[in-house]
Amino acid sequence: MLEVTELRKTYPTGDEALKGVSMAVEGSETVAMIGPSGAGKSTFIRCINRLTEPSDGEVRLDGSDLTELDDDALRTARRDVGMIFQEYNLVERLTVMENVLTGRLGYVSAWSAFRRSFPAEDIERAYDILDRVGLGDMENKRVDELSGGQRQRVGIARAVIQNPKILLVDEPTPSLDPETSNTVMRLLTDIAAEQDVPVLINIHEVDLAMEHADRIVGLHDGGFVFEGTPDELDDAG
Ligand code: ADP
Ligand code: ADP
Repeated sequence: MLEVTELRKTYPTGDEALKGVSMAVEGSETVAMIGPSGAGKSTFIRCINRLTEPSDGEVRLDGSDLTELDDDALRTARRDVGMIFQEYNLVERLTVMENVLTGRLGYVSAWSAFRRSFPAEDIERAYDILDRVGLGDMENKRVDELSGGQRQRVGIARAVIQNPKILLVDEPTPSLDPETSNTVMRLLTDIAAEQDVPVLINIHEVDLAMEHADRIVGLHDGGFVFEGTPDELDDAG
């Protein structure tokens, strides 16, 4: 379970991107965070694993406060956080399988990971997960030969293989067509249920959030402005 309490972030520029926000994500629920550009969505998700250093507040993952960890402990703790972020794009020249296995090793550089030999059980698990995300016959393809939707699935497989305690997804669908976006969202919610892992997704398409999320939180100007199930939000207009 992820429990964020009174999280604040003020950038050195003086921008108050988060003004003390709290939320919990647990079980196998999918929570979509929506809000206009500049609301603080990306800052929020990046503060969870301290890719951005929070200014104040707590981020507890199964009880332990990530904001208090030293660099070594943080590196270990990050293996419990499955990240599907744009900028962690895949390593273009590596194959699908290599990209997935590189994640499993805790984000060591792709090339050094590539030169290692991987334990058979990891390879087996990678095959299972690639099957699950619909890339069962693509393990030897280079990532630069894949479509946008296929690449997103590789990113999902790479995050899921580490058995994370939470999946964080930053804008999963920006350059995907509506049908592919729907498929990717459905895959994420199905995986949450199957693996019993909560998912927190930043997304700007409100209709995708309404269709797929169990709960929606609205962020505006560094604070949560609403929260509810899609049905509740629908009723509220
Ligand atoms: P969103 O993801 O909702 O678009 P962001 O978290 O990217 O919002 O941005 C929230 C606010 O923080 C914005 O005012 C943005 O300009 C500011 N901000 C984001 N990143 C930085 C940064 N590295 N330095 C200074 N200000 C930033
Ligand atoms: P270190 O502390 O040695 O930098 P990190 O765990 O912080 O190790 O991550 C190493 C690098 O990999 C960092 O640049 C980090 O931003 C990046 N990274 C973190 N998570 C992922 C991920 N899911 N996929 C790809 N790269 C990642």
